[in-house]
Amino acid sequence: MVIEYKNEPLTDFSIPANKAAMEKALKAVNTAKGTHYPLVIGGQKIDVEAKITSINPSNTSEIIGTTARANSDLAEKAVEAAAQAFKSWQYVCPAERARYLFKAAAIMRREKFDFSALLVEEAGKNWVEADADTAEAIDFLEYYARQIGKYTKGMEVYSYPGEENECVYIPLGVGVVIPPWNFPLAILTGMTAAAVVAGNTVVMKPASATPIIAAKFMALWEEVSLPAGVVNYLPGSGGTIGDYLVSHPKVRFINFTGSKEVGLRINKLASELAPGQKWLKRVIAEMGGKDAMIVDSESDIEAAAQDIVTAAFGFQGQKCSACSRAIVVKDVYDAVVAKIVEKTKALKVGPASNPAVNLGPVIDENAYKKILSYIEIGKSEGKLVCGGSKAGSYGYFIEPTVFADIKPAARLANEEVFGPVLAVIPAEDFEQALAIANDTEYGLTGAVFSNNRAKLEQARREFQVGNLYFNRKCTGALVGVQPFGGFNLSGTDSKGGGTDYLPLFMQAKSICEKL
Ligand code: NAP
Repeated sequence: MVIEYKNEPLTDFSIPANKAAMEKALKAVNTAKGTHYPLVIGGQKIDVEAKITSINPSNTSEIIGTTARANSDLAEKAVEAAAQAFKSWQYVCPAERARYLFKAAAIMRREKFDFSALLVEEAGKNWVEADADTAEAIDFLEYYARQIGKYTKGMEVYSYPGEENECVYIPLGVGVVIPPWNFPLAILTGMTAAAVVAGNTVVMKPASATPIIAAKFMALWEEVSLPAGVVNYLPGSGGTIGDYLVSHPKVRFINFTGSKEVGLRINKLASELAPGQKWLKRVIAEMGGKDAMIVDSESDIEAAAQDIVTAAFGFQGQKCSACSRAIVVKDVYDAVVAKIVEKTKALKVGPASNPAVNLGPVIDENAYKKILSYIEIGKSEGKLVCGGSKAGSYGYFIEPTVFADIKPAARLANEEVFGPVLAVIPAEDFEQALAIANDTEYGLTGAVFSNNRAKLEQARREFQVGNLYFNRKCTGALVGVQPFGGFNLSGTDSKGGGTDYLPLFMQAKSICEKL
């Protein structure tokens, strides 16, 4: 009997035992630094000379570990291994498939601090963010393991005299899982576990900035004895093996989360029929955002400013759901900007392993340079009221930065920066604030702070985002509670962590027998 689903609680690090456990786990990660991880294809460990080196973004002289770097020959091998494993995995009963997820969740829970400590060092997440990433990964395993039970009965159909009818759900085939680096455990886990519990087999290509946490996740599948080839671990550059995997005729679906640019490329390539391909590929693509929080004149501006700062600078603004636009109605504009600045100035930047730190580093040199170049753009588009500089020389640290008086047409109001940079945009009134919020090609998350029921109801109808929040921050969606996915160029609105997600990895088959 499976107990009722509930979200994994977050760790309270003010409890000395929890703090000590995290310190111990961080020490263990330090000891293991530099370990090399081979590919895992069809249950075989395969090594090659070419390597991916994972760097600690808090201290760029430190190597977290290395992995083998796959080329297209190895990508071919991985697809073949997944295709081979699919022959039997597709017929394993859903309850049995779910048991692998339950067991993986139990182990991940026991080793929570070890997973989180690796996230601190490899992704630059502070303790709280790393813990939330691990908790979300556990949630995905627990949630999808329960959800699959709903589909074993098949689709409800009417009876017809003289016939026996049913409509069953069956898996799709071989999938490619392509996650981003910013939730390198939670998103990787959710995207993989959903596909696998639905009866598919996958090639898991982790983001190149965070392949070590993915190796630890692969080891978890091995520990629970998931049959060889059901999940294949294939680190490699997206630019090199991505197109090969996406275009492969034996690949049935691509489960992608990442930038708009890469998502659009995948969508285009997947629509082309490869020689020997027998199906239309299914693409699940969750992409970027330019998320807005609206502050109305009739609202708790203290709470609004606090939540804007939390949503803008949590994990250094590197969340698809991060608040990158604060749209503030003019009556409260000066007061809200002052509060945002005061709260942002109180944030501490430093190595993610230091528990007192609010902002760790950004992920890598490319991100560092890109964000700093957006800060230069911001200086010509608005008024720099906070931050605006690098912060330290040994890691990719950037001050939390706030630009006020940004115009809706400015680049900073339209392009995803994906870093600790907030654009504050003034609006004449609530009506205009909503229009500005919607005037974007994206549509991922959004929030409104208002005490006026009519305005909240208007936003409920008209704010075009996949995840809308009232009187709270626009980050922090919970699995099973706020199904997640974006509108427009933010993606296919797949609603991960929701009841509609698993059918994306299945097809329905109507079967009729004349009696
Ligand atoms: P990215 O550059 O698009 O990379 C995402 C993944 O795609 C990585 O594994 C990458 O591999 C791979 N890739 C790159 N080129 C490819 C190609 N030609 N074919 C196939 N795969 C390819 O995104 P990111 O920088 O990792 O992540 C940040 C972005 O993700 C932001 O835009 C953020 O908003 C978005 N995101 C969205 C959600 C959501 O739910 N909507 C959640 C999290 C993040 P390499 O690492 O080897 O290049």
